[in-house]
Amino acid sequence: MAPAALLQQQTITDHGYNSANGSNHIHELKLKNEIPLDKDVVLTTFTNGVGINPLPLNWSSSDPLVRGPIVASRYKSGLLKHNAIGAHSGSYCIYHALAVGSKQLNPNYDADYTNAQPAFKIKQQPQWSNREKIVSMDPFGHLTPWLYSKVGQDEDVEIKPTISVTKAHMQLLEMKEAVDQGRLKIDGQVVINSNGDLNVSKVAVEPVWYLPGVAKRFGISENELRKALFEDTNGMYPELITRPDIKVFLAPIGGLTVYIFGNPEDISNPDKKLALRVHDECNGSDVFGSDICTCRPYLTFGIEEAAKEAQNGGVGAVIYFRKEGRALGEVTKYLVYNARKRGGDTAAEYFHRTECIAGVRDMRFQQLMPDVLHWLGITKIDRMLSMSNMKHDAIVDQGIPILERIPIPDELIPPDSRVEIDAKINSGYFTNGKVLNQDELKEVKGRDWNDVE
Ligand SMILES: [Zn+2]
Repeated sequence: MAPAALLQQQTITDHGYNSANGSNHIHELKLKNEIPLDKDVVLTTFTNGVGINPLPLNWSSSDPLVRGPIVASRYKSGLLKHNAIGAHSGSYCIYHALAVGSKQLNPNYDADYTNAQPAFKIKQQPQWSNREKIVSMDPFGHLTPWLYSKVGQDEDVEIKPTISVTKAHMQLLEMKEAVDQGRLKIDGQVVINSNGDLNVSKVAVEPVWYLPGVAKRFGISENELRKALFEDTNGMYPELITRPDIKVFLAPIGGLTVYIFGNPEDISNPDKKLALRVHDECNGSDVFGSDICTCRPYLTFGIEEAAKEAQNGGVGAVIYFRKEGRALGEVTKYLVYNARKRGGDTAAEYFHRTECIAGVRDMRFQQLMPDVLHWLGITKIDRMLSMSNMKHDAIVDQGIPILERIPIPDELIPPDSRVEIDAKINSGYFTNGKVLNQDELKEVKGRDWNDVE
């Protein structure tokens, strides 16, 4: 319901929504004073609005045609028929708007998916139709263009994939070093050559949230979740409030990528050993080599161990989540760095510095992370290349046992990142080594800016 002040500046046109008698017609407002538009703009839709007829969506049906396609786009007949809130492509949806707005892209363009089908088979799992296990991705998202092309044509709606599956070679200097030092053997299959090139199978996944299931994971009601998403995004998604019949939300956040080493079909085979690293994005270290944390060394250690597991007859996987800076973002992360480096960088103060600026120490919320493990058909993890208690607990809570946890080897920890790793170990991260007490944490110091300036 638009605020009264907003309504006063605008003209309600023909299907007008009448809040006085509660009739929920399509709410069309012609913007007169603010933005010169040449046609009526529908600010939002209402469940009982005129012509509202969303395509059926049965979230946990094992038959994709019974489950139905996810339709978000307003284009074509999507305004009346969409069954998902939000827009495709995660945070990139705004670039799509720029392409359309600047008239470089026809919004009704029909994608040609010739030869874009998955590069390897992802076996359908019973978990795909269990609403306790998959709530944050579309299990059929990689098959959408082929499963639902007829529905899209018949219903005149845009139906987009949210997952894609491909394969590639991976070149990392650390893998060349591993080959040079004899830690990795060239087998022509997993490790291709003396350069340490790896064969890898890859899956990119965009977030598709089933709101009742997401709310349940967080122990809140669906209404509480909808209200938080609506208000905290400053009303960006009014249908979170006006369309309780729509249960799916395309969250405008980064997704994830799965990198599989060895035969990807083995990942769901309980007789094959699985080495897994779940990694959250840290652009500064992962890509640009910052020495303030252990992210890239642990990532490349994870890749090396995953490759070794595949060579030993098992399978390895690294799953990379776009959750930069503990999902606080890089701007907050750098502010925290400043506070640490100007305030005496010690392990004892490590989490406090983040809490001062962000109010919390971490916003990654691992509750939704195990969905992709269920989607891949993983039922146990033999070797978990992560020390995080939050990741461990989220996975185990989802009924996937972790048989062994493997910390980052000490020799891979950059000196300046001891502050972070010792603080994390003290807070519950897994280690085979020593857990420092509070007094000892005060003695673990990072490089001061005065040391380098
Ligand atoms: Zn990092």
